[in-house]
Amino acid sequence: MILRRHLLLAPLARSRRIALTIDDFNPGALGVDDVGAANQRFLDELDRAGLEVCAFVIGGVNQSAERRAHLEAWSAAGHRIANHTWSHRNYNNPAIAGPEFAADVARAHTFVSTFRTFTPLLRFPMLKEGETVAKRDHMRSWMRVEGYRNGHVAIDACDWLYSQYFLRAGRAAKFRAPYLNHLERMADFSVGLSARLGLDAPLTLLLHYNAINLAYLPDLIAHFRNLGWQWVPASRAFADPLYQREPSRLPAGESLLWALDGGRERHQGEQDKAEEEILRRLL
Ligand SMILES: [Zn+2]
Repeated sequence: MILRRHLLLAPLARSRRIALTIDDFNPGALGVDDVGAANQRFLDELDRAGLEVCAFVIGGVNQSAERRAHLEAWSAAGHRIANHTWSHRNYNNPAIAGPEFAADVARAHTFVSTFRTFTPLLRFPMLKEGETVAKRDHMRSWMRVEGYRNGHVAIDACDWLYSQYFLRAGRAAKFRAPYLNHLERMADFSVGLSARLGLDAPLTLLLHYNAINLAYLPDLIAHFRNLGWQWVPASRAFADPLYQREPSRLPAGESLLWALDGGRERHQGEQDKAEEEILRRLL
């Protein structure tokens, strides 16, 4: 009986695979005095869960010797270190030209490439990849020349917004259930897009190095496991051919699945507004 149940569950587990990517590594977003202890807590929880993640690091906010040591600990634990630019600019801003943005990415490269587990993946800040064909293609060609690939997001959530409200409410425990529910809804949305596109790839989830994930990382890992998802190493997810696709829509960027689908479903900006309503009511 146990064997039969196992066999029945196997195909479901295979078709819903998820990988964790963590962005920014801005210590200010943790809202704690002891950043070192918080950093170690992330690592301990990931180790307990047996998860390898991809860390997309902003160069500019991680230049102290202390931050270098914190990031070295991620690399030593086997997590991938990748590029999230030096100064986290919005590339859809018409005032930022292709060469200027590329220089910002190259500057971050001189930092992130010094880690043992450096992986040449670039994640665009706010997932903005350029509002014109010329700008979009400038960075695509830069990546090709420099041996980089796009660190695409398949599941885009508003954890950054939940974290702001969570901090404003003094880390109130009443945020836990709505937050897990939010992540589940965002994942289901991406599963729907993935099915419509006829895909069966592991889905990369974007979360940030922030207060709400510091509080609930083990809970969210367990939540997805309980829902039948299988966590896979981020490096394995990015090896799937899905992550080499280059959607043609403009402005370029946002979630890869959403862009491949032609941006037909609701925009992430609209989602942010809907979530803000939920969060306002929670305060
Ligand atoms: Zn970011």
